[in-house]
Amino acid sequence: MPSPYSYSSLTTFEACPQAYAHKYVWKTKIPEDEMRVDLPMACGSIVHAVLEHAHRTILDAQQLPTLVELKNKIPELWNTALAESPIPISPEELAPFLLRSEENVSWYFETYLTCEKGATIAVEKKLLFPLNPRAKQWLIGFADRISQPSDDALIIHDYKTGTQKMGEKALATNFQANLYAGMVAHEYAPLSSIELHWHYLTHQKTVRVNVNPENVRTSVQKAQTLANGIESHKQMGLFPTKVGFACTRCDFVNVCPAHARK
Ligand code: SF4
Repeated sequence: MPSPYSYSSLTTFEACPQAYAHKYVWKTKIPEDEMRVDLPMACGSIVHAVLEHAHRTILDAQQLPTLVELKNKIPELWNTALAESPIPISPEELAPFLLRSEENVSWYFETYLTCEKGATIAVEKKLLFPLNPRAKQWLIGFADRISQPSDDALIIHDYKTGTQKMGEKALATNFQANLYAGMVAHEYAPLSSIELHWHYLTHQKTVRVNVNPENVRTSVQKAQTLANGIESHKQMGLFPTKVGFACTRCDFVNVCPAHARK
Protein backbone atom coordinates (compact mmCIF):
# COMPACT_ATOMS: atom_id res chain seq x y z
CA MET A 1 0.00 0.00 0.00
CA PRO A 2 1.42 3.46 -0.90
CA SER A 3 1.97 5.80 2.08
CA PRO A 4 -1.42 6.96 3.30
CA TYR A 5 -2.31 10.63 3.35
CA SER A 6 -2.86 12.42 6.63
CA TYR A 7 -4.73 15.59 7.54
CA SER A 8 -1.34 17.24 7.97
CA SER A 9 0.04 16.17 4.56
CA LEU A 10 -3.17 17.20 2.76
CA THR A 11 -3.25 20.65 4.35
CA THR A 12 0.50 21.14 3.71
CA PHE A 13 -0.21 20.54 0.02
CA GLU A 14 -3.23 22.84 0.12
CA ALA A 15 -1.11 25.63 1.64
CA CYS A 16 1.85 25.16 -0.75
CA PRO A 17 2.57 22.30 -3.19
CA GLN A 18 6.34 22.91 -2.99
CA ALA A 19 6.39 22.74 0.82
CA TYR A 20 4.52 19.42 0.47
CA ALA A 21 7.15 18.13 -1.98
CA HIS A 22 10.06 19.14 0.30
CA LYS A 23 8.50 17.35 3.24
CA TYR A 24 6.89 14.26 1.71
CA VAL A 25 8.38 13.67 -1.77
CA TRP A 26 11.94 15.04 -1.89
CA LYS A 27 12.37 14.63 1.91
CA THR A 28 14.62 17.70 1.98
CA LYS A 29 16.79 17.71 5.10
CA ILE A 30 16.58 20.77 7.35
CA PRO A 31 20.15 21.87 8.26
CA GLU A 32 20.82 20.79 11.85
CA ASP A 33 21.85 24.25 13.02
CA GLU A 34 18.44 25.56 11.96
CA MET A 35 16.61 22.96 13.99
CA ARG A 36 15.39 24.26 17.29
CA VAL A 37 12.94 22.64 19.61
CA ASP A 38 9.54 24.14 18.89
CA LEU A 39 8.46 24.77 22.50
CA PRO A 40 4.67 24.98 21.91
CA MET A 41 4.84 21.78 19.86
CA ALA A 42 7.02 20.02 22.46
CA CYS A 43 4.58 21.10 25.17
CA GLY A 44 1.72 19.54 23.16
CA SER A 45 3.61 16.26 22.67
CA ILE A 46 4.49 16.04 26.38
CA VAL A 47 0.92 16.67 27.55
CA HIS A 48 -0.38 14.11 25.01
CA ALA A 49 2.18 11.55 26.25
CA VAL A 50 1.17 12.06 29.91
CA LEU A 51 -2.56 11.81 29.16
CA GLU A 52 -1.99 8.75 26.98
CA HIS A 53 -0.08 7.12 29.87
CA ALA A 54 -2.93 8.01 32.25
CA HIS A 55 -5.65 6.47 30.08
CA ARG A 56 -3.56 3.39 29.23
CA THR A 57 -3.00 2.80 32.95
CA ILE A 58 -6.78 2.93 33.48
CA LEU A 59 -7.45 0.69 30.46
CA ASP A 60 -4.73 -1.89 31.08
CA ALA A 61 -4.37 -1.95 34.88
CA GLN A 62 -7.89 -0.73 35.79
CA GLN A 63 -6.17 1.75 38.04
CA LEU A 64 -6.36 5.54 38.25
CA PRO A 65 -2.86 7.04 38.40
CA THR A 66 -2.32 9.85 40.93
CA LEU A 67 -1.82 13.44 39.87
CA VAL A 68 1.62 13.41 41.53
CA GLU A 69 2.63 10.39 39.45
CA LEU A 70 1.50 12.13 36.25
CA LYS A 71 3.17 15.43 37.11
CA ASN A 72 6.42 13.63 37.93
CA LYS A 73 6.59 12.44 34.32
CA ILE A 74 6.60 16.00 32.94
CA PRO A 75 10.19 17.11 33.81
CA GLU A 76 11.70 13.88 32.49
CA LEU A 77 9.81 14.26 29.20
CA TRP A 78 10.98 17.87 28.91
CA ASN A 79 14.59 16.76 29.54
CA THR A 80 14.31 14.25 26.69
CA ALA A 81 12.79 16.85 24.32
CA LEU A 82 15.44 19.47 25.13
CA ALA A 83 18.31 16.98 24.82
CA GLU A 84 17.47 16.76 21.10
CA SER A 85 17.83 20.50 20.50
CA PRO A 86 21.17 21.54 18.92
CA ILE A 87 20.35 25.11 20.02
CA PRO A 88 20.18 25.41 23.84
CA ILE A 89 16.94 26.59 25.44
CA SER A 90 17.33 28.90 28.46
CA PRO A 91 15.43 28.20 31.72
CA GLU A 92 13.57 31.52 31.19
CA GLU A 93 12.33 30.42 27.76
CA LEU A 94 11.29 27.03 29.09
CA ALA A 95 9.52 28.21 32.27
CA PRO A 96 6.12 29.24 30.76
CA PHE A 97 5.87 26.02 28.76
CA LEU A 98 6.81 23.85 31.73
CA LEU A 99 4.11 25.62 33.74
CA ARG A 100 1.60 25.23 30.89
CA SER A 101 2.23 21.48 30.63
CA GLU A 102 1.72 21.06 34.40
CA GLU A 103 -1.47 23.16 34.40
CA ASN A 104 -2.85 21.32 31.35
CA VAL A 105 -2.37 17.92 33.01
CA SER A 106 -3.77 19.11 36.38
CA TRP A 107 -6.94 20.54 34.83
CA TYR A 108 -7.59 17.43 32.74
CA PHE A 109 -6.95 15.16 35.73
CA GLU A 110 -9.41 17.00 37.94
CA THR A 111 -12.05 17.55 35.25
CA TYR A 112 -12.00 14.22 33.40
CA LEU A 113 -9.82 11.49 34.80
CA THR A 114 -11.42 11.46 38.21
CA CYS A 115 -15.05 11.88 37.25
CA GLU A 116 -15.76 11.09 33.57
CA LYS A 117 -18.68 8.82 32.78
CA GLY A 118 -18.54 6.62 29.66
CA ALA A 119 -15.84 4.04 29.17
CA THR A 120 -12.70 4.75 27.17
CA ILE A 121 -12.40 2.13 24.43
CA ALA A 122 -9.24 3.33 22.64
CA VAL A 123 -6.25 5.59 23.25
CA GLU A 124 -4.06 6.99 20.43
CA LYS A 125 -6.21 4.93 18.09
CA LYS A 126 -4.83 4.46 14.58
CA LEU A 127 -7.59 5.01 12.02
CA LEU A 128 -7.55 4.24 8.29
CA PHE A 129 -10.09 5.36 5.72
CA PRO A 130 -10.29 4.39 2.02
CA LEU A 131 -10.15 7.78 0.27
CA ASN A 132 -9.96 6.48 -3.31
CA PRO A 133 -9.74 2.67 -3.06
CA ARG A 134 -9.22 2.15 -6.81
CA ALA A 135 -6.21 4.49 -6.73
CA LYS A 136 -5.06 2.85 -3.47
CA GLN A 137 -5.33 6.18 -1.67
CA TRP A 138 -5.85 5.90 2.07
CA LEU A 139 -6.21 8.42 4.82
CA ILE A 140 -4.53 7.81 8.19
CA GLY A 141 -5.10 9.53 11.52
CA PHE A 142 -4.68 8.95 15.23
CA ALA A 143 -7.53 9.82 17.59
CA ASP A 144 -6.26 10.93 21.01
CA ARG A 145 -9.03 8.98 22.72
CA ILE A 146 -12.40 7.38 21.93
CA SER A 147 -15.04 6.75 24.57
CA GLN A 148 -18.38 4.98 24.38
CA PRO A 149 -21.27 6.52 26.33
CA SER A 150 -23.72 3.92 24.96
CA ASP A 151 -23.68 0.88 22.65
CA ASP A 152 -24.25 2.76 19.39
CA ALA A 153 -22.64 6.13 20.19
CA LEU A 154 -19.01 7.25 20.39
CA ILE A 155 -17.14 10.35 21.51
CA ILE A 156 -13.87 11.41 19.86
CA HIS A 157 -11.63 13.31 22.28
CA ASP A 158 -8.89 15.64 21.07
CA TYR A 159 -6.42 17.45 23.35
CA LYS A 160 -5.47 20.99 22.35
CA THR A 161 -2.62 22.61 24.24
CA GLY A 162 -2.14 25.80 22.21
CA THR A 163 -3.68 29.20 22.77
CA GLN A 164 -6.06 29.13 19.78
CA LYS A 165 -9.59 27.87 20.31
CA MET A 166 -12.57 27.07 18.10
CA GLY A 167 -16.17 27.62 19.12
CA GLU A 168 -18.96 25.11 18.49
CA LYS A 169 -19.85 26.50 15.07
CA ALA A 170 -16.27 26.32 13.78
CA LEU A 171 -15.70 22.85 15.25
CA ALA A 172 -18.91 21.54 13.64
CA THR A 173 -17.54 22.25 10.16
CA ASN A 174 -13.81 21.85 10.87
CA PHE A 175 -11.95 19.84 8.20
CA GLN A 176 -9.75 17.84 10.57
CA ALA A 177 -12.52 17.08 13.07
CA ASN A 178 -14.88 15.84 10.36
CA LEU A 179 -12.20 13.68 8.74
CA TYR A 180 -11.65 12.03 12.12
CA ALA A 181 -15.39 11.56 12.49
CA GLY A 182 -15.47 9.90 9.05
CA MET A 183 -12.61 7.58 9.99
CA VAL A 184 -14.25 6.64 13.31
CA ALA A 185 -17.60 6.02 11.58
CA HIS A 186 -15.83 3.75 9.06
CA GLU A 187 -13.95 1.83 11.79
CA TYR A 188 -16.80 1.36 14.26
CA ALA A 189 -19.94 1.17 12.05
CA PRO A 190 -22.83 0.85 12.66
CA LEU A 191 -23.30 3.86 14.95
CA SER A 192 -26.22 6.18 15.54
CA SER A 193 -24.18 9.19 16.68
CA ILE A 194 -20.68 10.57 17.12
CA GLU A 195 -19.76 13.52 19.32
CA LEU A 196 -16.59 15.61 19.16
CA HIS A 197 -15.13 16.69 22.49
CA TRP A 198 -12.26 19.07 21.82
CA HIS A 199 -10.46 19.71 25.13
CA TYR A 200 -8.80 23.14 25.11
CA LEU A 201 -6.51 22.46 28.05
CA THR A 202 -4.90 25.90 28.21
CA HIS A 203 -8.34 27.56 28.18
CA GLN A 204 -9.65 24.92 30.62
CA LYS A 205 -12.71 24.43 28.46
CA THR A 206 -14.19 21.59 26.38
CA VAL A 207 -16.11 22.35 23.18
CA ARG A 208 -18.68 19.65 22.33
CA VAL A 209 -20.64 19.12 19.12
CA ASN A 210 -22.69 16.36 17.53
CA VAL A 211 -21.28 15.26 14.19
CA ASN A 212 -23.38 16.14 11.16
CA PRO A 213 -22.91 13.48 8.41
CA GLU A 214 -23.19 16.19 5.76
CA ASN A 215 -20.10 17.94 7.17
CA VAL A 216 -18.24 14.61 7.17
CA ARG A 217 -19.13 14.09 3.53
CA THR A 218 -17.90 17.58 2.60
CA SER A 219 -14.58 16.99 4.39
CA VAL A 220 -14.05 13.57 2.81
CA GLN A 221 -14.73 15.04 -0.65
CA LYS A 222 -12.20 17.81 0.02
CA ALA A 223 -9.61 15.21 1.13
CA GLN A 224 -10.26 13.19 -2.06
CA THR A 225 -9.80 16.30 -4.22
CA LEU A 226 -6.53 17.18 -2.46
CA ALA A 227 -5.23 13.59 -2.75
CA ASN A 228 -6.03 13.58 -6.48
CA GLY A 229 -4.28 16.93 -6.83
CA ILE A 230 -1.15 15.53 -5.16
CA GLU A 231 -1.18 12.48 -7.46
CA SER A 232 -1.39 14.64 -10.58
CA HIS A 233 1.44 16.91 -9.37
CA LYS A 234 3.53 13.81 -8.69
CA GLN A 235 2.86 12.54 -12.22
CA MET A 236 3.87 15.91 -13.70
CA GLY A 237 6.86 16.19 -11.36
CA LEU A 238 5.83 19.80 -10.79
CA PHE A 239 5.33 21.37 -7.37
CA PRO A 240 4.88 25.15 -7.67
CA THR A 241 5.51 27.51 -4.78
CA LYS A 242 2.52 29.28 -3.22
CA VAL A 243 3.65 32.30 -1.25
CA GLY A 244 1.36 33.09 1.66
CA PHE A 245 0.84 32.72 5.38
CA ALA A 246 2.43 29.24 5.34
CA CYS A 247 5.82 30.84 4.51
CA THR A 248 6.02 32.30 8.04
CA ARG A 249 6.28 28.79 9.53
CA CYS A 250 7.89 26.98 6.59
CA ASP A 251 10.99 24.85 7.34
CA PHE A 252 12.12 25.19 3.72
CA VAL A 253 12.16 28.96 3.30
CA ASN A 254 15.98 28.94 2.90
CA VAL A 255 15.82 26.64 -0.12
CA CYS A 256 12.65 28.11 -1.59
CA PRO A 257 13.04 29.75 -5.03
CA ALA A 258 10.16 32.14 -4.31
CA HIS A 259 12.17 33.65 -1.47
CA ALA A 260 15.62 33.45 -3.11
CA ARG A 261 14.44 35.87 -5.82
CA LYS A 262 13.57 38.59 -3.30
S1 SF4 B 1 8.60 29.32 1.82
FE1 SF4 B 1 6.45 29.58 1.22
S2 SF4 B 1 6.40 29.36 -1.00
FE2 SF4 B 1 8.37 28.54 -0.27
S3 SF4 B 1 8.03 26.34 0.00
FE3 SF4 B 1 7.64 27.31 1.97
S4 SF4 B 1 5.44 27.73 2.01
FE4 SF4 B 1 6.01 27.34 -0.13
